[in-house]
Amino acid sequence: MRAQNLLVAPVPGWDDAHPWLQAGVTLRELGRGPDFGFFGDAGTAAEKGLDNWRRLLASGAWSGVVRSRQVHGDVVRVHREAAQGVVTAGDGDAHATRVPGLLLAVTAADCTPVFLADPVRRAVALLHAGWRGVAAGVIEAGVSALRDTFGSRPEDLAAHLGPAIGGCCYEVGPEVLAALETGEPPGKLPPDTATETSAAAGRIFLDLGEVVQARLARSGLPPENLSRSGDCTRCGGKRYFSHRRGDRERHVAFIGLRKSAWQPRPSPADQTA
Ligand SMILES: [Zn+2]
Repeated sequence: MRAQNLLVAPVPGWDDAHPWLQAGVTLRELGRGPDFGFFGDAGTAAEKGLDNWRRLLASGAWSGVVRSRQVHGDVVRVHREAAQGVVTAGDGDAHATRVPGLLLAVTAADCTPVFLADPVRRAVALLHAGWRGVAAGVIEAGVSALRDTFGSRPEDLAAHLGPAIGGCCYEVGPEVLAALETGEPPGKLPPDTATETSAAAGRIFLDLGEVVQARLARSGLPPENLSRSGDCTRCGGKRYFSHRRGDRERHVAFIGLRKSAWQPRPSPADQTA
């Protein structure tokens, strides 16, 4: 299918472990690559961007794809009904669903896409996590949304951190560390999260993925259910876009239940609806 030939890096191992869902991140391919930026990114023609979203939609048996204007907050958009075409939900950095055929999407260019899957309830969520969102509690909000809406148990959840800027490249100011420690919920950062190298005295490099994984573990996810891409968006070749490297474009992370997935068990929320 020529128009749908997006190059995608699937979440490693999930095709085998979770054949009921599909999840991955688009690659920038050659040259500038497909751009999924929208909402006023300077230099991005709206129609060109929309065409890429349609390609994503056509890349599988999807009825609709939902996205939001991302604001680095902790709002989770829960989608209980099917959608048609490319749909823009209200502002938010996280989505959750268990509607087969509905694709959830977040865009990124250094921020961490966090994939959540519940193989028991057959529910999924996708979070856009930069330091502001993490400090605002988007990780905990995503886990809570699956638990409260679909009856997911945190110990059943699998999580994967997609490609993002790594501790090798993510230089931050001390206010970022302070925000992460005093944010929602407050807590000490894991050891070795922030390093000050002797070669760059006084400069702080943050491994945000360590913070995200620690928060997922604190939310009840077993450590063995967590995985993480080893790709740094900034220095790991040009497979992905990187805001810090100067790219204006965005790649897209996506997750959805395949239409052929068996019908999930009723959740407490559904039974009382
Ligand atoms: Zn790097």
